Amino acid sequence: VRSDAVVLFGVTGDLVSKKLFPALYELTRRGRVPATVIGFARSPWDQQQLVTAARKSVTEAGIDVDEDVFEDLAGRLSMISGDYADPETYARLADALAGAERPLFYFAIPPAVFDAVVEGLKGAGLADRGRVVVEKPFGHDLASSHELAATLRGAFAPERTFRIDHYLGKEPVEGITLFRFANAVFEPLWNREHIASVQVTVAEKFSTQGRAGFYDKVGATRDVLQNHILQVVALLAMEEPADDTQEAFQAAEAAVLRQAAALSPETTVRGQYEGYRDEPGVATGSQTETFVATRLTVDNERWAGVPFYLRTGKSMPVTSTEVVVEFKGAKPGTGNLLRFQLGKKDGISLTVQVKRPGADVTAQTVSLAVDFDDVLEPRREAYERLLDDAMDGEHLRFAREQAIEQEWRIVEPILDLESGVLAYPQGSWGPDEADALAGGWA
Ligand code: NAP
Repeated sequence: VRSDAVVLFGVTGDLVSKKLFPALYELTRRGRVPATVIGFARSPWDQQQLVTAARKSVTEAGIDVDEDVFEDLAGRLSMISGDYADPETYARLADALAGAERPLFYFAIPPAVFDAVVEGLKGAGLADRGRVVVEKPFGHDLASSHELAATLRGAFAPERTFRIDHYLGKEPVEGITLFRFANAVFEPLWNREHIASVQVTVAEKFSTQGRAGFYDKVGATRDVLQNHILQVVALLAMEEPADDTQEAFQAAEAAVLRQAAALSPETTVRGQYEGYRDEPGVATGSQTETFVATRLTVDNERWAGVPFYLRTGKSMPVTSTEVVVEFKGAKPGTGNLLRFQLGKKDGISLTVQVKRPGADVTAQTVSLAVDFDDVLEPRREAYERLLDDAMDGEHLRFAREQAIEQEWRIVEPILDLESGVLAYPQGSWGPDEADALAGGWA
């Protein structure tokens, strides 16, 4: 059954404003939003304030607002304010959901509040029939991710639990596996015989955007490397699933992550942009990394000896999410580069050598490039797709417990290092040591 109500816990927060209201608006346009959408928070908002916040959010998302659609959404919104730990708040919620068979509970709240909300929902008898959506980070490390999993399991059946790694909802990310397995020309080359290295970059031009107090307890490894980047690595490196079921896909994904070695501080460069320590909320002498670059190895027949260079950071020269697969060349520096652009500007390109015009027969590198905007229909936003899927009870594009566990195992040795963070200028590609690590980034 499709969810017949949505409850947004933490409706006053950043995630709802940046992602969930725009997603709900787009889903309303397509007739995919249930009659009841409840905002839940401590802040004493009324329905009107909720509607105002929704309008601000869709406008700021750059949506050209259709008044009929917005009014349709506004008419579905209602607000419940109260304490997250008070059973009385959940009694009011239960009343509001009296007619709902399969409500969807979206945890857009800090992880510190998860336990209270789970208890509240259980106490009001709502967990038995609800679906729950939780956001990364799934815990703070391996041990706390197990605790979180146990808390959720104690209240919600696995088939009603949805873990969002929104990268899995991005069309071009989902497209990586299709590209690999549907283009038979690449599969014979997709191994250590022919691939020299794989590089994954998630760069953000912006800094902590006034959220340094939150970010200082997290850092780049937990924020992006542990989840989004390792998720992309799994899609790039996994074996072809045995069939097209979700189970086979998950098994293939978990298998390759299991074969990845835990990261080493020796082959990791952690950076911090200059000025970060002066931001409000940042601890004195903070060693939190706003940039991390590392080398991952995958010890199986396909990948032994192929370095996976991974990096992510804030205050970079550009915002971009890119994978580069570097094929071995006849001579150093001449290998073909297959580039997947996974960000707002999505596409694929392959460099090839052609003859440079002139009397001599020498090579010049050019790029065979396709910009998806030119050839594909518009792609829907990740959050819109994921919210739609969760309401349908469809799990394919959600993160899996087994994979998350492996991701924590892989990053654990480089978490919470107490020294060694290197300063880098804002607007640069991080410390020079990161270039040395990868021998230059393609
Ligand atoms: P947020 O803005 O910091 O918090 C959301 C809301 O939670 C707040 O408006 C606040 O509303 C409520 N809240 C309850 N107890 C709180 C407490 N002890 N401290 C602070 N706020 C508390 O969080 P968010 O950025 O929207 O993120 C929500 C969840 O999504 C988190 O699990 C986060 O890790 C995850 N996430 C966020 C993003 C993003 O882009 N923001 C991206 C990926 C994942 P009231 O005070 O009104 O109750």
